[in-house]
Amino acid sequence: MTRITDILSLSLDDLKSAVSALGEKPFRAAQIYSWLHRKRVCGFDEMTDLPAALREKLSEEFSFERLKPARVLESKTDGTVKVLYELCDGNHIETVLMSYEHGDSLCVSTQAGCRMGCRFCASTIAGFKRNLTPNEILGQLYETERLTGRKVSSIVLMGIGEPLDNFDNVVKFLGILSNPEGTNMSLRHVSLSTCGLVDRIYDLEKLDLGLTLSISLHSPYDEKRSKLMPINRRYHIPELMAACRSYFSKTGRRISFEYALIEGENDSEEDAKALAGLVSGMPSHINIIPVNKIKERSYRSDRRSAQRFCKILCGLGANATVRRTLGADINAACGQLRREYEE
Ligand code: SAH
Repeated sequence: MTRITDILSLSLDDLKSAVSALGEKPFRAAQIYSWLHRKRVCGFDEMTDLPAALREKLSEEFSFERLKPARVLESKTDGTVKVLYELCDGNHIETVLMSYEHGDSLCVSTQAGCRMGCRFCASTIAGFKRNLTPNEILGQLYETERLTGRKVSSIVLMGIGEPLDNFDNVVKFLGILSNPEGTNMSLRHVSLSTCGLVDRIYDLEKLDLGLTLSISLHSPYDEKRSKLMPINRRYHIPELMAACRSYFSKTGRRISFEYALIEGENDSEEDAKALAGLVSGMPSHINIIPVNKIKERSYRSDRRSAQRFCKILCGLGANATVRRTLGADINAACGQLRREYEE
């Protein structure tokens, strides 16, 4: 662990306090913040309008840590870029840049590993290492834009980790991301995906940040969902759906549901009917995703059954689509590259 303060994880207010504690004038904080988050310099040396003595002092007081790309894979078919980043302590995380008609979207990790234990997910198999700092979440945006020369227009918190299990750092990250003195990204362009930590969904709702909540549902039945996703033993589906309804009524943001279709597990007509019933009357969108194969499990699915399942849902009045598969040639599914690399 670093003992000195990580400057890139500080909100503008935190930076103001830290700068005044050094005996510097308040305007310096805004100047430094702009170098960090607007101009995105790579070190204190580049902050050329600060006196040399102040730059020296900053480098003694603060750490300036950046992610290192350990591997970069580029899809030959659809412009998807997947980066394996190495953190300062040698842990690894994944970031995926995807190209859509409406612009480029970045899928970021929020933890090194994950402790949620979803059966079909490669990110959780080797367990949990640690939470990412705000800087390490933000760094995935900064370094990927630098590396590719592309501009990210939306962000999904759908990479490795459970964002609501790293609540404080994720909220700090969102604050820095949306600050007008920095990247100034509207949180309407951000989606947060969760396996369903119900208490934290209510905490998020209170903050009213305007982001889209995405729920990884994967089964409309408690018994089946508990087998696939251990978190369901703690928070059952009715509680989760009540939290979704509440989130919508407080924030006005439509809920998005993720449904990884797994042959023989959750893909029957009965599953579709129960799912449609569960979301009926709730402004929502269901994303059907043919489950990505991971080598530790035998789960399978295909696009045709996903389309069939989707058609049943739509016929019952649900708003559902089959997610486009991107980066299939570069193992872009959650956690697979990191598993391979660390082995
Ligand atoms: N922990 C958060 C976000 C990370 S996982 C969550 O659970 O939502 C991002 C999404 O990928 C989730 O919907 C997750 O259920 C899904 N996912 C994980 N492994 C998958 C696989 N093998 N195939 C399809 N989707 C998968």
